[in-house]
Amino acid sequence: MNEETLINKLHEVLKQQNRADDEIEEINKAYLFAKKLHEGQYRVSEEPYIIHPCEVALILADLRVDKHTIMAAFLHDVIEDTDTTPEQIEQEFGEDVKNLVEGVTKLGKYQFKSSEERQAENFRKMFVAMAKDVRVIFLKLADRLHNMRTLNYMAANKQQRIAQETLDIFAPLAGRLGIGKIKSELEDLSLRYLHPDKYFEIAQLVAQKKTEREQTVRMLMQTISINLKQNKIEAEITGRAKHYYSIYKKMKRLNIAFHDLYDVTAVRIIVNTERECYEVLGVIHSHFKPIPGRFKDYIAMPKSNGYKSLHTSVLGPRQKPLEVQIRTKEMHHIAEYGVAAHWRYKESGSVKADSKTDLQFAWMRRMLELEQESAGADDFVEKVKMDLFTNQVFAFTPTGDVIDLPLGATPIDFAFKIHTDVGCKTTGVLINGRIAQLDTKLKNGDIVEILTSKKSEPKLHWLNIATTKQAQTKIRQWFKKHKRDEYISIGKSLMEAELTKTVFDECIKSGELLNIARTMNLTSVDDLLALLGNGEISAIKVMNKLKHEAQGDDVSKFMSHKKPQSSKQEIIGLEGLMYQLAKCCLPLPGEAIVGVVTRGKGISVHRQDCKSLETVQPERLLEISWNPDIEKLSKKTYISAIRIDVDDKIGMLKDILAKITDCDTNINYANVKSNSTKKLGIIELGLEVSSIEKLNYVMNQLRAMESVQSVKRVPLNSNTRLYVPSSQKKKAKNHK
Ligand code: MN
Repeated sequence: MNEETLINKLHEVLKQQNRADDEIEEINKAYLFAKKLHEGQYRVSEEPYIIHPCEVALILADLRVDKHTIMAAFLHDVIEDTDTTPEQIEQEFGEDVKNLVEGVTKLGKYQFKSSEERQAENFRKMFVAMAKDVRVIFLKLADRLHNMRTLNYMAANKQQRIAQETLDIFAPLAGRLGIGKIKSELEDLSLRYLHPDKYFEIAQLVAQKKTEREQTVRMLMQTISINLKQNKIEAEITGRAKHYYSIYKKMKRLNIAFHDLYDVTAVRIIVNTERECYEVLGVIHSHFKPIPGRFKDYIAMPKSNGYKSLHTSVLGPRQKPLEVQIRTKEMHHIAEYGVAAHWRYKESGSVKADSKTDLQFAWMRRMLELEQESAGADDFVEKVKMDLFTNQVFAFTPTGDVIDLPLGATPIDFAFKIHTDVGCKTTGVLINGRIAQLDTKLKNGDIVEILTSKKSEPKLHWLNIATTKQAQTKIRQWFKKHKRDEYISIGKSLMEAELTKTVFDECIKSGELLNIARTMNLTSVDDLLALLGNGEISAIKVMNKLKHEAQGDDVSKFMSHKKPQSSKQEIIGLEGLMYQLAKCCLPLPGEAIVGVVTRGKGISVHRQDCKSLETVQPERLLEISWNPDIEKLSKKTYISAIRIDVDDKIGMLKDILAKITDCDTNINYANVKSNSTKKLGIIELGLEVSSIEKLNYVMNQLRAMESVQSVKRVPLNSNTRLYVPSSQKKKAKNHK
């Protein structure tokens, strides 16, 4: 369209909207002002520059925005591209127009791309701009829409970047504001430049199906028209192809080719009242078989952007699935124009008494209220919990920097995102000035202050709290490094215990230990000590090597000065860590076990076949095993719970207890129930056993009893309070 046609079209639209003559006059004044300023400037398309502001104004007029926004549309590039100052605009058109132009100019300076950090910063600025005046966002969206429409004149590499940015930022933004019309067009245009082959394939096929679509609508109309007449419902029925990007998304999601995608056609039925929506739904469902699970009532439960409609899918006239949307004219208007529609109502002061309409925009209204309430825009960001990008959370540092995180992220993620050092030194967190737990899920706009201390160290259970890969990796790295130091010092003390400190130091000085390390393909003594410390090699082995290297001349100094003693550690792999045996499976020595890092309670030791492990994230699992010498090392016993089903007859319990005592096993607790209908006695016992072998032995002894039906292991009865078995106390004393 040339300039003249555009302006005529604009005037036509404005008149259709019953705008006053002086309003149109003012808008025209802004147009002429901009025309003069952009005189002699051309776009990449070689069109006069003024075409662009005219197009932007037309897009906005269609959104039915107020006159100041349309005026600002004409002027939106003059500060940036001409010598005009904001003051001049204010002089000519007043403060409101000046603020709008300034707002969109500022927003235009940001490059909405590159690193995640930059992007988050841009979002923040967008929020802030929106807080000040949502019309600035309308301007920005319209500007972007026209630029996308004319993107073919741009260089190919720019096309890609701009299209990606549009898809990532502007289309979701339009969606969040409920402006479905702009959102769809932005998405389709982005697709055209990001995946041209797919775009043109879809476009072509959609065009091919046009006749089919029209037929579907006709057949549907024929089928339901009688019912509609009977109910005196006026309905406007249109068939439409879904927009390209939603077809593309669906193809990608289902990983199918276009011709396999049956429901590219959707039918929209527009009626006058909400009640009629439901009546039409009834009519549709009585003629066509509804597809289960596809009905959605966005009238009773509007989307957060105010969208209302009934959605259903049925087997349509051709026995093909058909998507049907049913809505009133007003709902349709809101679906297309979203917040812009509402804004107009507000602006013209003609908000209907119907508060329900108003409620649809609770989100937007809250924003408007905040705009009036809050002095600063930052205040707004702090208060409004926006879900513009539903899978992301934007939290702020106390100095106002944005940290963007995935939904569900915690202060631990936040801390590691700032810096590894901050993460590692975290001791606590203030969220919005209040002390909070480190596992709190952060919300949009939260101001997060991480409390640190120089001496603080990461905790193993943070692995459960952290949701980002970054934080988890850093925590794991820290532990790997940290544990190495620990292992080295354990290794060192093991060697010192074998050799005495003096001889050990001598061996270090003389390089003898380094030689040993090298014979084992290690590069340093520390590597050797680390392996020694975590039990991968034994001190005996190193001692033997030292003796061997010494070759007789001074073997004596390498004679162990003490009796070799194996580690007293009950479980290998948990050195120095807090742990407890899981009550759900009660592992016993001799059974395959695994450690699970828990929240705040150290490591929980489970049997490898424990059902509870199925839901555990693999990165929380630790490889551990019982010390094979455990039975020799200590006389410690472990609680194991068993359930014995027996014939319900007198004396059974006594017999069973006697049998267990015969097996030289203590009973820690006993619960007895009887099921009289089944003539069954259920006996739950806590046994003190030293190993799985011992337990198996006892269980087999019980199974061999005549009246015993079954014996199996059960979780620890949570009602039962454990006490330290008296036998064990005694044994412990005897041991010393
Ligand atoms: Mn522009």
